[in-house]
Amino acid sequence: MTEAERKEQQRKIFAGQCDFRYGVNALDQMPPVELPEIAFAGRSNVGKSSLINALLGRSIAHVSKTPGRTQQLNFFEVASTFYLVDMPGYGYAKVSKDKKANWDQLIRDYLKGRTSLRAVFVLVDSRRGLKEVDTDMMQMLDQAAVQYRIIMTKCDEPSSSELAQVIAQTEETLKKHPAAYPFVQPVSALKKLSLEDVQKAALELV
Ligand code: GDP
Repeated sequence: MTEAERKEQQRKIFAGQCDFRYGVNALDQMPPVELPEIAFAGRSNVGKSSLINALLGRSIAHVSKTPGRTQQLNFFEVASTFYLVDMPGYGYAKVSKDKKANWDQLIRDYLKGRTSLRAVFVLVDSRRGLKEVDTDMMQMLDQAAVQYRIIMTKCDEPSSSELAQVIAQTEETLKKHPAAYPFVQPVSALKKLSLEDVQKAALELV
């Protein structure tokens, strides 16, 4: 396949049919293994819904001004090719301990032995860099031996030197995480920057 053909195939997949298929709150609701899965994780308010919507070119994930509202695993079927799994945002301070424990359990259950899960894209806000909740998530992924990539969101906000610095710091930390892809992918949903790179990474993994 030529590069032009690959790009056209990618464009068709992300512009193709996309349906919400499952919302999962507990292990016993986990859908059957049907298609390869790419999951998106990140702190509440990291820009996850905006990125998913930008990648798919339509408003499908809920963009919220109230962080911490999406509390389930949402499975979107993309062009009969893969499931994009929107994981519940983590690290929202106002969430009760019980709820947090439920989320932790759901995420652990999902990561453990989900044979169709190809990779997790862990979103990190470029203005904040890695926080403890992010490294906790990364450890969970290392332990579950699920490969993951760091996608740095809102890269339209920091200056280019600030961005270079936060990327370098993050890549330094990635060296200590065995299941992590060693390079950070910067992106902006707002300015539509590097969306095709994220799409390409997803398709390479499915
Ligand atoms: P989620 O909670 O992770 O799903 O985050 P949302 O997608 O709801 O976005 C949280 C906030 O960040 C909203 O106010 C968005 O407008 C803003 N946001 C999302 N993506 C970008 C981006 O690429 N650039 C900038 N500057 N802001 C963004």
